[in-house]
Parts: sequence; structure tokens; C-alpha cells
Amino acid sequence: MIPRAKKHLGQNFLIDGRIQQKIIQACDLKADDIIVEIGPGQGALTRLMASDVKRLIAVETDRDLIESLCSNLPSVEIVHADFLKWDMGHLPDGIKVIGNIPYYISTPIIEKLIENRKRISTAFLTVQLEFAERLAAKPGGKDYGSLTCFVQYYMDVKVLFRIKNTCFRPSPKVDSCCVRLDMKHQLQDVDEKFLFKLIQTAFQQRRKTIINSLKGMVDKEMLGKALADLGIKSNARPEQLTLSNYIELCKCLVL
Ligand code: SAM
Repeated sequence: MIPRAKKHLGQNFLIDGRIQQKIIQACDLKADDIIVEIGPGQGALTRLMASDVKRLIAVETDRDLIESLCSNLPSVEIVHADFLKWDMGHLPDGIKVIGNIPYYISTPIIEKLIENRKRISTAFLTVQLEFAERLAAKPGGKDYGSLTCFVQYYMDVKVLFRIKNTCFRPSPKVDSCCVRLDMKHQLQDVDEKFLFKLIQTAFQQRRKTIINSLKGMVDKEMLGKALADLGIKSNARPEQLTLSNYIELCKCLVL
């Protein structure tokens, strides 16, 4: 018997076969791929990948789903674990991560992928639409914020396609979206800790001007000079600055 969906584990199972196929096609699987799937659930995506890749490791936290996953998908390495606590240190380089991920831990999952970026080439994630919009946002809009800058610093974000909420059971209130995240190989030579503190501080007070939102963190005179040197208006709002602007600002301020 299939257990009831557990809301607290973000269990919205993808039941639309056409969309399952569409996601797998988008992942462009190769015979020598090593895949980590986050939250296989009842195996909707898992079974479509199992015979097409070299290794498939599926990490599921719900004990009630493990037995049937193991017996139905013998070639898949089913791991009973909380993905957020699971050690990825033993994995080889170049893995792909795939998942229709539980919405309640979308941000920590992305943070974990970034932490383990040396091993990951690409992630194909199905997430709530608003979350996808925040990941892919461009400067100037309401979706653009510190999460956007953090993710786009490490990854190229591409929105692939939207998925109607009715494709899932139980059906969530909102639509979802499939996104592709490619790890960047070359990162900027910048003090990342300072950069993300600067960005977070700026967006904490996004209605203020950039100079006022940052004045508690950085000396105002020094900040004014750095903004002027970079050609950024001191009365610009935090969401009007591009990620490159923040990176340049960081480089100017860290001596
Ligand atoms: N992949 C399946 C599908 O598309 O139908 C299930 C997707 S469902 C949105 C999310 C899955 O992630 C559930 O099976 C849930 O139990 C699992 N999950 C929730 N929290 C998890 C965690 N911390 N680690 C691993 N899996 C988790």
C-alpha cells in the first residue's frame, strides 16, 4: 500500500507522466553520468533514469518509502538519510543533482549544493515558481535579492519550464518550475564572506538608498567615495545594483 503523503516532508508527488518525461529529457542524461536524486519519493523520476546512467544514488528521508524504492528499483543506490545531513564527501567530481525538491528546505538544499560545488557540475531542480523567480531574477524587480546574488555568484541559473500545480498529488497551492543550475568554474577573486554580508545588509533595508542601507556596516565617507569611483549613484536602491556592482564595491572596500 502507498503511504499517505506527508505534508511536513513537502511530499507533493509528480503524477503527470508527460511532465516526468519532460524533466528527464531536460536533464540530458548520459550513459556515464553519476546522478544524485534528492527525495525520490515514490520513484516517479527515479525509475525513468535508472537504466540510462552509470550510477544513481537516491536520498530519501521518509522511512516509509524506502522499502518499496529498494524492491522496485534494485539498480538504484537508495540512501535513507536527510539530504541536508548526508555527507557528500565520498562522491566523485562532476556529478549531476536532480530532484523535485521539498519546498520547505529549498534554500538549505541550494546552500548545500554550493558548499559541495567542487563535486557538482549541474543541478536540475523542480521548485516552487516564486522560488525559481527569485533564483533567476534580474536587478530592479521585487524578486531580486540577496538569495539571487548569492546563487548567481556561484551558478548560472536557467528557468526551463513551468509546471501546473495540478501535475502533483496532493496538489500544492502554487505552480512549480524546473530550473537548471550550472556551477561556475571560475569565481571572482573577492572576499566572499564580506561580499555576502554587504549584500545581505543592503537588502535588509531595500527601501533605503544604498548609501543609507550600508552606512551601519561601512564608513559612510569611504562608501560614498567607492560608489562615486564605480559610477553608482549613492541614492540608488539596493535592488538597482547588479551582482557585478556589489563585487566591485566589495573589492573597493576591502583593502
Ligand atoms: N521525486 C518525487 C516526485 O517527483 O514525485 C517526490 C518529490 S516530493 C516534492 C519531495 C520528496 O523529498 C519526498 O519524497 C520527501 O519525503 C523527500 N524529502 C523531504 N525532506 C527530505 C530531506 N531532508 N532529505 C531527503 N529527502 C527529503
